[in-house]
Order: sequence, then C-alpha cells, then structure tokens
Amino acid sequence: MPVYPCSHVPNVIVPPSSAGCEECLALGDSWVHLRLCVHCGHVGCCDSSKNRHATRHFHATGHAVVASLEPDEDWMWCYAHGSQVG
Ligand SMILES: [Zn+2]
Ligand SMILES: [Zn+2]
Ligand SMILES: [Zn+2]
Repeated sequence: MPVYPCSHVPNVIVPPSSAGCEECLALGDSWVHLRLCVHCGHVGCCDSSKNRHATRHFHATGHAVVASLEPDEDWMWCYAHGSQVG
C-alpha cells in the first residue's frame, strides 16, 4: 500500500494514556487490536473489534490519525485521507 504525506499527522505524537481500549475496559468488553490516537493519546480498538472505538473516536472528535499499538506493527492510518500515512 502506498504511503502518502499527511497534513493531519501532528508534530508531537502523544503517548498512549491506557494499556487497553479505554471504552472496552470501562464496558468490561474485549478487543482484537489496539489503535492509538496520536493527537490525544486515546487508545481504542480496531475495526476488527466489535466496538470499533478507534473509528468512533475519530467521528466524535475529528482526530484523524491513529497509529497501530501492536508490537510488530509500525504504521499510521489517517481516517480523513482514508489511507496509510507516513
Ligand atoms: Zn490525513
Ligand atoms: Zn473498544
Ligand atoms: Zn484523540
């Protein structure tokens, strides 16, 4: 997948504020993969998880860029561009 320059990526990446999806932990629910909102440090679950909190966080806040929190993955995704970004 090509990587596009993205004006939404902030200069400072905020570190994760939680060890798991914050909403799922509050619900007692589970997730598949974790995504970090690089704008505010929110941790949410991916679109393969039933609650899709990372995507919901984007729609609620407009925070466009998430990074994977999986240890073997190093990429960012921009919801506004709908593509992987560098
Ligand atoms: Zn973007
Ligand atoms: Zn979740
Ligand atoms: Zn955010």
